[in-house]
Amino acid sequence: MLKLAIMGAMREEIEPILKHFSDIKVNEYANNKYYEFKYDNLEIILAYSKIGKVNASLTASVLIEKFKCNVLLFTGVAGAINPDLKIGDLLIANKLCQHDIDITAFGHPYGYIPEGKVFIETSKILRDLAFHIASENNIKLSLASIATGDQFINSNTQKDFIKNTFRADALEMEGASVALVCDALDVPFLVLRSISDTANMDAGFDFDEFLKSSSKTSANFILHMIDKLKNFTSIEDK
Ligand code: SAH
Repeated sequence: MLKLAIMGAMREEIEPILKHFSDIKVNEYANNKYYEFKYDNLEIILAYSKIGKVNASLTASVLIEKFKCNVLLFTGVAGAINPDLKIGDLLIANKLCQHDIDITAFGHPYGYIPEGKVFIETSKILRDLAFHIASENNIKLSLASIATGDQFINSNTQKDFIKNTFRADALEMEGASVALVCDALDVPFLVLRSISDTANMDAGFDFDEFLKSSSKTSANFILHMIDKLKNFTSIEDK
């Protein structure tokens, strides 16, 4: 049976999902709240981690190790790097990297940690499911490579570095750390993001203006995914 973890980084990113459900049990653990409810034969645990890679790793680990979730969806907003991505556009990650890992002093490439890999891939089954839902509902959905780091990016210099070094299409502050946890613990996962800004000097203003609407775009798509996932008993990528 599937036990589905849904996480975002900020309250605004999960609230549009939470308000669709009732009979919610709130579990307090590790300085956070985990919202537990049932939908059909799915058990769902929803949480926002707070911003950044460390918080996101903690929440993803708790969702999997303590609450025994065996599939994870991340929902939220991101800054666009690829000029084809406009504010409000929806994307799923095919792979994610940490753009602020730098031990290049020792001859390693940016984003690389020994015994690890620069990019971690998302679940193909979940990606296929997402594209199926998108075409069924006439929703525009892009496949994007995501770069994650512990900085809000609002300058073309930083953005160009990430673009040129990782060929990423979008950037945010949690995805790759969630990917690392799910990959290590063998849990199929998908990262969904809607564009809130374009990571340039206007990013702060755009973010404030579009956080709510873009969060809702991503959350609405998660609701479609929940509706399909209720018919799954397991997700076997290999
Ligand atoms: N305004 C918030 C801080 C937001 S940080 C506050 O004051 O509390 C930005 C959040 O949105 C992160 O969770 C990150 O994943 C995502 N994000 C959106 N645009 C981003 C950008 N340009 N750079 C980095 N992260 C971005």
